[in-house]
Amino acid sequence: MIDTIYFEENLLPNLRVQEILKRFPNAHRVACDYYGEVFNPKAQNFRLQKENPALILANKTGSLVLPAPSEYAIGGTRNFYFSHMLNCPYDCRYCFLQGMYRSAHYVLFVNYEDFQDAILKKISEFPEEEIYFFSGYDCDSLAFESVTNFLESFLPFFESHPNTYLELRTKSAQVSSLLSRKPVQNCIAAFSLAPEKINRSLESKTPSIEARLQSIQALQMSGWKIGLRFDPVIYCADYAGEYAQLFKRAFEMVDANRLHSVSLGLFRLPKPIYETMHRLYPDEKLFAGPIEERSGMCSYPKELEHQVYEFCLKELSRYIPAQKTFSCVIV
Ligand code: SF4
Repeated sequence: MIDTIYFEENLLPNLRVQEILKRFPNAHRVACDYYGEVFNPKAQNFRLQKENPALILANKTGSLVLPAPSEYAIGGTRNFYFSHMLNCPYDCRYCFLQGMYRSAHYVLFVNYEDFQDAILKKISEFPEEEIYFFSGYDCDSLAFESVTNFLESFLPFFESHPNTYLELRTKSAQVSSLLSRKPVQNCIAAFSLAPEKINRSLESKTPSIEARLQSIQALQMSGWKIGLRFDPVIYCADYAGEYAQLFKRAFEMVDANRLHSVSLGLFRLPKPIYETMHRLYPDEKLFAGPIEERSGMCSYPKELEHQVYEFCLKELSRYIPAQKTFSCVIV
């Protein structure tokens, strides 16, 4: 699965690094001074690298916790994200990471304790507020869990700060590391869902929607808080039938009364990212339209966006109260 592991040389004694190296005894090991030497060079092809990404083990410096985009909000008064990892083993054609990074290699920042210190700092800055921390902004929160052991470190941490929330955002159906623990009440396992047809055509290497729903159901039954993320909604000729069917199936499997939140947002990307992705996949229908630019963002024409959004919102209202539904539409 991983043929090559790059690591920042001064991290060699780090226990987390040692454990990961042991896990891949046959991987080719390459030391470097700084992960950016491998990850940032210009002459790289994300699409080619995605076929066999290497793993880079690094130390994250600088700003470790950042304000989350406003459309991430799911009820908190403050929203931040942190990225213990860059990139993901799945290959969604609409993923903004392929337009943002030059490299498809996985970067794992192993200094978890520094992230936790930075989170504590934010908590102390806003002691009276309900703060949400999002871990799935630059990666999938769970897809690489068997390598990262992220949960083992971060769940107890958040459990000891019950007035803050951690959102794990994922398309993974591998939830045994959550099921084997007592539910953490301030953790939301948030699953991205799309119609099966969109899943098969645009979400390469991800588990099927049915497999995700089975995992969601198992987690909810064992007491975990669940979020459903219908974002990005992708327009297709039969979007109404496809999304109506998806919502129906999702709410057959999930108890709406016990859901933490649902978010709904349409496909949208900053223009430079959209253009890079279009160059990587010039034949991809998703980028062929109907797309227009508004205020630096590429998305569906206003009227179409409104029509699809309102349809989905109305369908969702059959299953879940409006106060649990959050909009990811940029106004
Ligand atoms: S699961 Fe998320 S992070 Fe991974 S490729 Fe898909 S959109 Fe990108």
